[in-house]
Amino acid sequence: MDRRQAADACLFEAIVLACDDALLSVCADGLVSSWNPAAARLFGYSQSEALGMALPELLPQYDPGASARDAGASPGLSTQSFARDRAGQLLPVLVSRTPIDDPVRAARGWLLSVHPLLARSPTAPGRPPHAYQMNVYESLVECSDDAIITKTLSGVVTSWNPGAQRMFGYAAGEMIGEPITKLFPAERHDEEEIILQRIAQGERVEHFETVRLHKDGSRVHVSVTISPLRDASGRVVGASKIARDIGERMRAAQAIWRQAHQDALTGVPNRNSLRQHLQLALEQAGRQASELGVLYIDIDHFKAVNDSLGHAAGDNLLVALTQRLRAALRSSDVLARLGGDEFAVLLPVLDDAAHVHTVCDKLHAALRQPFAYAGHALHVSASIGVALHPRDGDTPDELLRRADLAMYQAKRDGRARSVCYEPAMDQQARARLLLAADLRRAVQHDELHLLYQPVVRCGERRPAKFEALLRWRHPGLGLVPPGRFIPMAEEAGLITELGEWVYRRVAAQACRWSVQHAAAPQISFNVSPLQLNADIDPTRGWAAHLLELGLQPRQLVIEVTETVILDRGPRILERLRRLRAEGFQIAVDDFGTGQSNLASLSRVEVDYLKIDQSLIRKLPGDARKLAICEAVVAMAHRLGIEVVAEGIETEEELQKVQEIACDYGQGYLFARPLEAEQAVRCLQQLPEPPQAD
Ligand code: C2E
Ligand code: MG
Ligand code: MG
Repeated sequence: MDRRQAADACLFEAIVLACDDALLSVCADGLVSSWNPAAARLFGYSQSEALGMALPELLPQYDPGASARDAGASPGLSTQSFARDRAGQLLPVLVSRTPIDDPVRAARGWLLSVHPLLARSPTAPGRPPHAYQMNVYESLVECSDDAIITKTLSGVVTSWNPGAQRMFGYAAGEMIGEPITKLFPAERHDEEEIILQRIAQGERVEHFETVRLHKDGSRVHVSVTISPLRDASGRVVGASKIARDIGERMRAAQAIWRQAHQDALTGVPNRNSLRQHLQLALEQAGRQASELGVLYIDIDHFKAVNDSLGHAAGDNLLVALTQRLRAALRSSDVLARLGGDEFAVLLPVLDDAAHVHTVCDKLHAALRQPFAYAGHALHVSASIGVALHPRDGDTPDELLRRADLAMYQAKRDGRARSVCYEPAMDQQARARLLLAADLRRAVQHDELHLLYQPVVRCGERRPAKFEALLRWRHPGLGLVPPGRFIPMAEEAGLITELGEWVYRRVAAQACRWSVQHAAAPQISFNVSPLQLNADIDPTRGWAAHLLELGLQPRQLVIEVTETVILDRGPRILERLRRLRAEGFQIAVDDFGTGQSNLASLSRVEVDYLKIDQSLIRKLPGDARKLAICEAVVAMAHRLGIEVVAEGIETEEELQKVQEIACDYGQGYLFARPLEAEQAVRCLQQLPEPPQAD
């Protein structure tokens, strides 16, 4: 060694001795070969104790060889790790290593510089200076449910807590020394570089939501906060990362999103979502000056499926018909379920307004094939209302409301059809609303009353019975026909109250006539299917009430329309059977207006069949209709049912009715509906010229 070399050696030794960082060297076999005073302070071992110790006793998680495998690691690069001191406490440190030649074994050893990351707290008596503080940090890290990870600035993992193991499936031994990108899905590899750049600049990345991979390949949704790790001089040397599993929160958020936007049963968008689609489509149509269409769809008689086959059948049908409707539309069209049996379609781009009719035809056709459910073939049709933008409205609410109005018109026009919105529908709807409000007051204000139309036995000219027909004398509008206010009462939920009022009046009238006449005429009265289907059976007390009045139920005939028997649920049929068992007679009204089906008469026993006036009107000129009616009458007679022909206006019609052997006739030819006093006056002989309504 020359003088200069000797001087250098002295200088180096002085530096090593004075250095604040622990400096130690290890041979290729990992045993400590040199030790400076700072190392003695940090680890608590004197030089003579330390020499020959195995490195893992001092730096249990640090392997200089593994550290060297860090991609891009430069010789002096720091790695965060833990130093174990004489008392067994772990202290976070930054370790940097430089390879040195071990001339004795001709192999590589390491010079390690160990820099404590935490300043030592003032010495507490009887306790190593940093022990308590370390215990707290360590147990926090150990117990945390969050993954707490540290890594170098090149992204190599330097520590890995049990929370990280639980979250990602890897044990500490499998991750320390490995690149953190091992946890990154392929499409997220870029994230690490961006994060590390920000960390290197001393920035903190907070609550960054992303996806990582579990050891088993599954995806873990995490919220990550990453902070720079600095050495005692303030230099950024790595990053600490706290990752929280937000999978549960994401699933909850997705469930909330679905609940807010998707119909739970059918999976298609719900009303809320449709309005958003519609809003966007309107904005786009505004920019492109194009048209769009909104269809409001209501499934006809859907309630009957629920009532007769149960809710499971109803749900099943809704799912199946949603699929058919969806398949009939373009992928850019939006099908939404608005609730119950109501759907809507948004046609966002209409090249030609006529296209909307093609779509409606396709939707009707899609429902035409019957649906199979538990051995039943369910026939379904829909009423569709159409509104177009810009012609019928500019906002989602306006378009939906107008399409809805048009749909109601389609229902009134006989269902299974599509109707386009017209401005008059708004006025009609407003008038209906006002009228419905008035109707609520009509009962209390004594504006309702009954007229009685004679029903005559064929061949006779005097009333055999009467049909009670409801009239509403509106204070401002005059006489409102029942064809107008009965459906309104049904829609407004007033029909049970109204029906009960009719029953009570009819019973009182029957009572009066039975006092006045030895052979009091029977009175028939109309009962709405909705009234018969009410949750609390409104007909329960009728028989007992009649008995109290000294009347037999047989003096009254309950008229129900054909559709009640055809497609209403078991509840109505049961009630009708009970009423008949109590002695009431039952008439099927308006026979021939629905899907006439004599087989339906086998579902419940009835006493009368009333052939609708539309059929009677066609009898004289139509031999086929005549033959059909004749067959219907013959069949009814074989079932023990008497037949009433409704709406006879001419002698010709009466003659045909008699030819086909109808039992009774009713119509203007005999008399119009009459006031009760007038009706009773003509019991012996009908007045010659028909009276006014
Ligand atoms: P409906 O039960 O079929 O009653 C027969 C309808 O035909 C009555 O009309 C009657 O005035 C009319 N009519 C009778 N003969 C002739 C005729 O020769 N020519 C013509 N063109 N019409 C004739 P109205 O009174 O307007 O009643 C219409 C419908 O309203 C009834 O049809 C019935 O379904 C319903 N309705 C009437 N009163 C009540 C009621 O108290 N409760 C319920 N739920 N519905 C009722
Ligand atoms: Mg009737
Ligand atoms: Mg009728």
